[in-house]
Amino acid sequence: MSRQGTGTLYIISAPSGAGKTSLVKALLDDLPFVRVSVSHTTRAARPGESDGVNYHFTSVDDFQAMIGRGEFLEHAEVFGNYYGTSHPWVRQTLAQGHDLILEIDWQGAQQVRRLAPDACSVFILPPSTAALRQRLNNRGQDNGDIIESRMQQAAAEMSHYVEYDYLIINDDFNLALNELKSIFISGRLKQSAQQQRHGELLSMLLQGS
Ligand code: GDP
Ligand code: ADP
Ligand code: 5GP
Repeated sequence: MSRQGTGTLYIISAPSGAGKTSLVKALLDDLPFVRVSVSHTTRAARPGESDGVNYHFTSVDDFQAMIGRGEFLEHAEVFGNYYGTSHPWVRQTLAQGHDLILEIDWQGAQQVRRLAPDACSVFILPPSTAALRQRLNNRGQDNGDIIESRMQQAAAEMSHYVEYDYLIINDDFNLALNELKSIFISGRLKQSAQQQRHGELLSMLLQGS
C-alpha cells in the first residue's frame, strides 16, 4: 500500500526536540509533491498549535472510538498520550500520487512497516544529548517536567535508529535539510515510480514515435 498511484510513503522519526517538525516544514516549502499526515493526538495543544494544522486534537474517548472503528493505520502511546495516523486520509493521499510523510514514533513505524514493507524510513538524531536538551528548552513550549521525561526517554528512542533506512544528524540545519531533500528526490526518480508517472512517454519512445 505504500505505492498506490505514484505516491511513496515515508516515515520520519526522531527523539523529541531533534528537529523533525522544523525539517519537515522546510521540506514541504521546497518540494511541492510531498504532503504530511496530520496525526490525531490526545495531548493538549501547545501555545501556537492549532487544531487540524499541527494535530487533530482529540479526546481520549473519541480516540478510543476511532480505534474501535479501525480508523487508524497505526496508533501508539507516546509520553503518556495517544497518537495515531488516519488510514483513510493516507490511502487517499497516496492514491492522488503525492509522496506522504508520517512523522511518527518508532512504535508506529514498526506497525506501518508491517503493513507497507516498501515504505522508506528516516531517523533524525541531534548532534549531542546536550544539544537535544538545549533545543527542547529553547523551543519553550513544554514545561520542565515534560522536558525531563522526554530527555529520559531519548536514549531508548534513539536506540531504534537501526530499524530505519536512512540516518540524518541534524547539526547544521541547512545541511540536514538538503540531506533529507535528497532522499525524497532520489525516491521520486526510482525507475518503478518513473515508469508509472511517464508511462505514455516510455511507450512512445519504445515505439519510436
Ligand atoms: P515533538 O516530536 O517533540 O514535537 O513532540 P510531539 O508531541 O509532536 O510528538 C510526540 C511523539 O509522538 C513523537 O515521537 C512523534 O513522532 C509521535 N507521533 C506523532 N504523531 C504520531 C502518530 O500519528 N503516530 C505515532 N505512532 N506517533 C506519532
Ligand atoms: P521535533 O519535532 O523533533 O520535536 P522541532 O522541529 O520542534 O523538533 O525542533 C526543536 C527545536 O530545535 C526548535 O526550537 C527548532 O527551532 C530547533 N532546531 C531544529 N533544528 C535545529 C538545528 N539544526 N540547530 C539548532 N536548533 C534547531
Ligand atoms: P509531540 O507531542 O512533541 O508533538 O510529539 C511527541 C512524539 O509523538 C514525537 O516523537 C512524534 O513523532 C510522535 N507522534 C506524533 N504523531 C504521532 C502519530 O500519529 N503516531 C505515532 N506513533 N507517533 C506520533
